[in-house]
Amino acid sequence: MSDDHRVYSYTATLMGSPILLKLFSNNEALASRVFRLIKQYEDLLTVNRAPSQVMDINHAAGKHPVSVSRPVYELIRVAKAASLLENSAFNLAIGPLVKRWKIGFQGDSVPPADEIAALLAITDPVDVMLDDAANSVFLTQPGMEIDLGAIAKGYIADRVRDYLRKEGETLALINLGGNIQTLGAPEGGWSLGIKTPFGGADELIGTLNVENKSVVTSGTYERFFERDGKRYHHILNPRTGYPLDNELDSVTIISTNSIDGDIWTTLIYGMGVEKGCAALRARPDIEAVFVTKSKEVVVSSMQHFRFTLLDNRYRLTG
Ligand code: ADP
Ligand code: MG
Ligand code: MG
Repeated sequence: MSDDHRVYSYTATLMGSPILLKLFSNNEALASRVFRLIKQYEDLLTVNRAPSQVMDINHAAGKHPVSVSRPVYELIRVAKAASLLENSAFNLAIGPLVKRWKIGFQGDSVPPADEIAALLAITDPVDVMLDDAANSVFLTQPGMEIDLGAIAKGYIADRVRDYLRKEGETLALINLGGNIQTLGAPEGGWSLGIKTPFGGADELIGTLNVENKSVVTSGTYERFFERDGKRYHHILNPRTGYPLDNELDSVTIISTNSIDGDIWTTLIYGMGVEKGCAALRARPDIEAVFVTKSKEVVVSSMQHFRFTLLDNRYRLTG
């Protein structure tokens, strides 16, 4: 690489995830401003510690609407729309179930079926009432809780890209705990590794080559617990209240905006490979790489990236 293409990497831990920023100039000050921006969004959106605007909404469930800042309102509006898609596996009101299962956190356990049924009753996205004029959100049922965990990182990755662009950067990469967003591309594109599900930390199933794209991977190997020989992972089926059960070990979405990648990883988890590919035919701007339990790698289409399989235990199809 020539001198003007030297990469400078900056790291932080935010939103409970490792954050990596790659810049092509030595600019510690810019990296600090990016990390501060991420922290500001985390402070607005988190449901894992008080206070945040989303926590304020949750605390007022069944009582009164809460006015929030414009970005928070917009993100909730987008999350609600994704939740109301036909047969959507995405549900922004899944909070009570996520909190009960505690998957990936201390104290995880399999809830009794009657508790799951009771909690399901307070997860209807229709009960998230929005008021555009007041930027306010009202959860109409007591005990309801919004959880933006499946969309927030994608949203914030896009804000970081926009910020870097505004600051005059033409070449940069941000990895927010698995949500990657890129600005431009070095010669030959960005080569991004996709992890082998349940493999070692550095084990790659393959590499993706992209320019100016977001790459989001969601895998059931990332956060789960095992009880009585059964594995429970962190993406829940909004209709049953149990982890989504299908043939996937991971899915990677390639799209322009990382928020779409984050939403679609969850939508695809609900659809599986066949329905997922069919749904993506209507969205040529969004592409997927599926990794199945039966060790197949299926690509929905390959217009905006290249994929190289590295792990010979897997077969590439599609
Ligand atoms: P990752 O953890 O890989 O980023 P996601 O983007 O799919 O995976 O987000 C998972 C998180 O989203 C969970 O930890 C939980 O907070 C929340 N969540 C779980 N199930 C759902 C669902 N069906 N719809 C929306 N959010 C969900
Ligand atoms: Mg995510
Ligand atoms: Mg997601």
